[in-house]
Amino acid sequence: MTVRSRFAPSPTGYLHIGGARTALYAWAYARRHGGQFILRIEDTDVERSTPEAVQAIVDGMQWLGLQHDEGPFFQMQRMPRYKEVIAQMLDAGTAYRCYTTPAELDALRDAQRARGEKPRYDGRWRPEDGKTLPAVPEGINPVIRFRNPIGGAVAWEDGVKGRIEIANAELDDLIIARGDGTPTYNFCVCVDDWDMKITHVIRGDDHVNNTPRQINILKALGAEVPVYAHLSMILGDDGQKLSKRHGAVSVMDYPAKGYLRDAVLNYLARLGWSHGDDEVFSMEQFCQWFDLDHITPSAAQFNTEKLNWLNHEYIKKTEPAELATLVAPHLATLAIDASSGPPLARVTELLRERTPTLVEMAEAARYFYLRPALNAELLKLHLVDPAKHALYELVNAFASTNWTKADISAAIKAAVAKHALKMPQLMMPLRVMVTGQTQTPAIDAIMDVLGREETLARIKSGLAS
Ligand code: GLU
Repeated sequence: MTVRSRFAPSPTGYLHIGGARTALYAWAYARRHGGQFILRIEDTDVERSTPEAVQAIVDGMQWLGLQHDEGPFFQMQRMPRYKEVIAQMLDAGTAYRCYTTPAELDALRDAQRARGEKPRYDGRWRPEDGKTLPAVPEGINPVIRFRNPIGGAVAWEDGVKGRIEIANAELDDLIIARGDGTPTYNFCVCVDDWDMKITHVIRGDDHVNNTPRQINILKALGAEVPVYAHLSMILGDDGQKLSKRHGAVSVMDYPAKGYLRDAVLNYLARLGWSHGDDEVFSMEQFCQWFDLDHITPSAAQFNTEKLNWLNHEYIKKTEPAELATLVAPHLATLAIDASSGPPLARVTELLRERTPTLVEMAEAARYFYLRPALNAELLKLHLVDPAKHALYELVNAFASTNWTKADISAAIKAAVAKHALKMPQLMMPLRVMVTGQTQTPAIDAIMDVLGREETLARIKSGLAS
């Protein structure tokens, strides 16, 4: 059997981070088993579906690198097929026309409630052997209902939640086409999964209630029933359902906030699935390891701190030149012109140990490209005698120092020794004059990258202040 999994988003907004995890798991499952991954756009809710949302899904999947093997298929383009299957079901007797009007249904439900019963369709138009159906009324477009089995139960071995069983008595005869002939959601999903030969349905557990209905329809169609695996939802940092108020919920918010693709994928892979104690792993490894058995049935909680930690792990091991390419758009967002200063790769090499996201890296890079304003308060605190005197001498020494990190460092050390100072007594005022702040990478390294001319200009203006 060739594994065929699918991701079937409804294009009604952005690609949600939870949807991305679903897509990742379905994709990885197909990769693991050398199968196919299918992208299907479920756009039958015409009121809420938009072309922009379709584009957002495509963009999100592309950024994540979750390449589909087939599709995207659009349900709206498959209407003739759904109608064809409905016609076949009417012929086969697995579906029937129901002429009950909305008013009659309301009356039926009221009467059931009054008797203390659960409201449900009473099967009045359901054909049975030996039963006489009501006379077909004039001028009513019937809905089409699925003839759900009456006795017994529907059961499946859920890949995540274990065995689930629902009595057929709990299931109404589902409307599979409306009065105007348009097929309904659950029915389209069945025809699609059947036609697309889906073997594994990995989706959010908000669909668990649809599954018994879908299994019954698939069986009536003579289709293979796929394996179902329902993923628990993702909660926010605070334990509430993940929503906009938690900040980044759209996949595309993550690149904008300076997260690396591999870090986001790695984070999502671990969000509800585990492989021993492994925390940092590549997608290649994930595709070799991923299985349904190690998906956690309980809800996963989003943890921004952990994502930041993971992102930093990836930043630290990314080559400076690649980091330069990745951080460049973030510098542009901050209106920092990277052509006005040292090569960006030298800057990213200095900063990568300290900045967990690309946005923070871009902010930290600012003083390499824009001369910081003198911070009077910090200068007053750190630019004090006897260090001040030593710094005047050091400026002169710097004019002829070989401009390498080692020689700059040696010059500073010599000044410290000569004036019997402690290292921080020179390092701190230098930091403040050169970068405008006190928390930075090693100052000799910064000065080396910044260049002699700009460094001396900054120190001189600091000393003159
Ligand atoms: N279109 C559904 C959703 O976006 C998914 C349906 C499915 O995977 O079966 O929630």
